[in-house]
Amino acid sequence: MSSASSLPLIQRALKQGDQLAIIDRAGRFRYTDLLTAADRITGYLLKSQPDLGEARVAFMVPPSLEYAAVQWGIWQAGGVAVPLCPSHPLPEIEHIIRDTNAEIVVSHPDYETPLRSLGRGLKVRFLLTSEVTKAKKCLVPEVTLDRRAMILYTSGTTSKPKGVVTTHRNILAQIASLIDAWEWTADDHILHVLPLHHTHGIVNVLLCALWAGAACEMLPQFDADAVWSRFVHSDLTLFMAVPTIYIKLIAAWEKATREEQQVLSRACSKMRLMVSGSAALPAAVFERWKAISGHTLLERYGMTEIGMALSNPLHGERRPGFVGVPLPGVEVRLVDESARTIEDEGQPGEIQVRGPHVFLEYMGKPEATARAFRKEWFSTGDEAVVEMGSYRILGRRSVDIINTGGDKVSALEIEEVLRTHPTIQECAVVGVKDQEWGERVCAAVILRPNDSLSLGSLRNWAKERLAKPKVPAQLLLLDELPRNVMGKVNKPELRKLFE
Ligand code: AMP
Repeated sequence: MSSASSLPLIQRALKQGDQLAIIDRAGRFRYTDLLTAADRITGYLLKSQPDLGEARVAFMVPPSLEYAAVQWGIWQAGGVAVPLCPSHPLPEIEHIIRDTNAEIVVSHPDYETPLRSLGRGLKVRFLLTSEVTKAKKCLVPEVTLDRRAMILYTSGTTSKPKGVVTTHRNILAQIASLIDAWEWTADDHILHVLPLHHTHGIVNVLLCALWAGAACEMLPQFDADAVWSRFVHSDLTLFMAVPTIYIKLIAAWEKATREEQQVLSRACSKMRLMVSGSAALPAAVFERWKAISGHTLLERYGMTEIGMALSNPLHGERRPGFVGVPLPGVEVRLVDESARTIEDEGQPGEIQVRGPHVFLEYMGKPEATARAFRKEWFSTGDEAVVEMGSYRILGRRSVDIINTGGDKVSALEIEEVLRTHPTIQECAVVGVKDQEWGERVCAAVILRPNDSLSLGSLRNWAKERLAKPKVPAQLLLLDELPRNVMGKVNKPELRKLFE
């Protein structure tokens, strides 16, 4: 037991002192404010107990100083942080609380009603963040880096969400790699617009900023006009988002007047880096964003289980459609169907990843954990190919790699071509079971306003641009694609629409 936590994130924050840490709706807060708020949470959680001993603490707190304080408060107390997403349906929240065997639920007053009754039913201790002000600073346990720190539920676009358990050491390795690759410093100032139950928003944005001693400005949720306004009025140096956010920012820019557009575009020039990830960045979005903002988006590839694995260079050429090379400290290889390492460029295979940033286990699922590893190599389930020294993602094997008449085709490649059709605004391709072909290529499409498109004309157009097996056999016109809160297309849901 000691008066200050030995956790490296907290030790570093102690040195940052009066440096600006977080800006949220309530104000501007220094590192000392964050540490004081985290101490109160720790005192509140521990009561008279010396150590939470890896007890799971689920929490639902909006993006704010309070969110970071609850996360750090849990870690200082020796607990495992389980962030909950406010927009998830209640049964999903219940699944997470049950699956993690959470002993405590911490809630912001905004979510009190549903969470208190859920907590009562599940017999967990329920705490409100508004009550924490009364808690006192207390002695904290020694928390070693190999202890469990966090459980994140994967987006569940391919199967029922599994809890991904990471240790403090895993999280530190994930942070260290990005700090090094993207050259974070205490002079950075990032705008945070991502959900805080997902690794992208938690590690890449919030924790990297706090590790670097930088400032993290948090919006309550994504709103294109609010983001543009922060670009103009804040001294931002960094921005990180998913492709759908860039699509919405482009749409908002296009609605603005000529003069406003100039102001918005000029505001981007003060930033040093803009990053895209968590889903494939369409080449058209890459190009359009470059024209609007002057920034060549840095696309990277990662997943909840591994943090970030591949990235385009901070300095050097960033090619649309490519996700670059392994990040510092990360080993990546491609393997074929017989688990042999692929040495040659141009031959597709499954991405496997090894390193200290790779997660510990799936919560309560030893078989699923064992299945996911080949010795220390984690099998991502994603297919990729290396071309001219850089990785290109072909998609998730389970939903994006379509086996049609013996040919394996990438849905992502087909989507990229379909997006260049003059009537197509957005699209997603899935493989649907077929007696004759095994699977057939099916395209769901959102058309531009007042346009029309028939399957016949799409096929004629596509035959001139795509190999025969890649030409869509079925077309569905939609107003919206089913997406999760990260903006990723939910392909199993989409497949059901065709079936
Ligand atoms: P999640 O665990 O929710 O972050 O989802 C991870 C998955 O998102 C990966 O396994 C990939 O299938 C996909 N993904 C992440 N980044 C990219 C990217 N840059 N391009 C294509 N797919 C990506």
